[in-house]
Amino acid sequence: MSRPKNAIKKSYLDLNENEVESILTELGESPFRAEQIENWIYNQGVVTWSEMENLPQLLREKLENIIPLHPLRITKISGSDTEFTRKFLFETLDGQKIESVLMKDGKRTTICISSQVGCAVDCKFCATASMGFIKNLSSGEIVDQVIHLQAQSNSKITNVVFMGMGEPFLNYRNVMEAAKILNQKMGYGARRITISTAGIVPKIRQMANEGHKYKLAISLNGSNEKSRNTIMPLTKTHSLKSLIDSAHYYYKKIHRFITFEYVLLEGVNDSPEDGERLIDLLRSLPCKVNVIPYNEIGGEYNRPNEDNIHGFLHSLKDAPFTVTVRWSKGTDIDAGCGQLAVRDLA
Ligand code: SF4
Repeated sequence: MSRPKNAIKKSYLDLNENEVESILTELGESPFRAEQIENWIYNQGVVTWSEMENLPQLLREKLENIIPLHPLRITKISGSDTEFTRKFLFETLDGQKIESVLMKDGKRTTICISSQVGCAVDCKFCATASMGFIKNLSSGEIVDQVIHLQAQSNSKITNVVFMGMGEPFLNYRNVMEAAKILNQKMGYGARRITISTAGIVPKIRQMANEGHKYKLAISLNGSNEKSRNTIMPLTKTHSLKSLIDSAHYYYKKIHRFITFEYVLLEGVNDSPEDGERLIDLLRSLPCKVNVIPYNEIGGEYNRPNEDNIHGFLHSLKDAPFTVTVRWSKGTDIDAGCGQLAVRDLA
């Protein structure tokens, strides 16, 4: 759908209550229309003004002409609706590109959404890092990924993970606002929403202090300061020790298990000694470790061979925490973990 020529460069999803009220007043409408519109957007998941059947036709036409309903539009879908994994390319109103992924696994339908265009954190194994940081997504742009993907999915989305492009905790306010909308307006329980961070320590503490019940995932990827620092330069600012301390702090406040993501890279963090150090590091923390054999992106790092993957997993066999392995889905369409990067930015 093309955008109306006279549309303003902000979508309805990004208006605050006062702005909504002032638009409705200008159009001679009562503020209760806002509730009807909100219901269409968040509960019915409509993607056009014309679908809002209980609004007068004239109002729908006026709104269509003055403001875009959604801040995003889908420009490309990779994978068919019969496949387990599909990747969506979106364009924002200001012409930026982001990606989201829809994954089905039995009764679960999970979506992985982006929080920024590009990323400043510069993890050495990550395709998004190559884009650099471009901008923070607004809460509307974050929520809109969920609305569009639900409209494209033939099953109800059960889980939302903030693990796409960007570091969610470097866009903390908008991410938390989006999570609140998902939780309070769209019916996603806090346990169905996971926020993943590369390790922005003060924000982990802030999330704990504010009492948010969303699930926390930490991208760990190293068993000591040195190995983590090799691939995650933010370790210089947020040491592994301070990260683990903040995880303990979070657990004490929120009483919720943390998931540690561990991308397994050949010759970097995949030795049995790494496994043993990982046990020591996390021994006293109620948590789960999710091992992700690396999805190659054509850079300097490789996925360990099967023997090394199994050797590493074997070293964790007596770990006091649960260990799972994510054999990433969607690697054929570059939708696996760490593979999201917009290739056609031009
Ligand atoms: S892994 Fe996450 S935090 Fe690290 S560069 Fe990629 S998108 Fe940013």
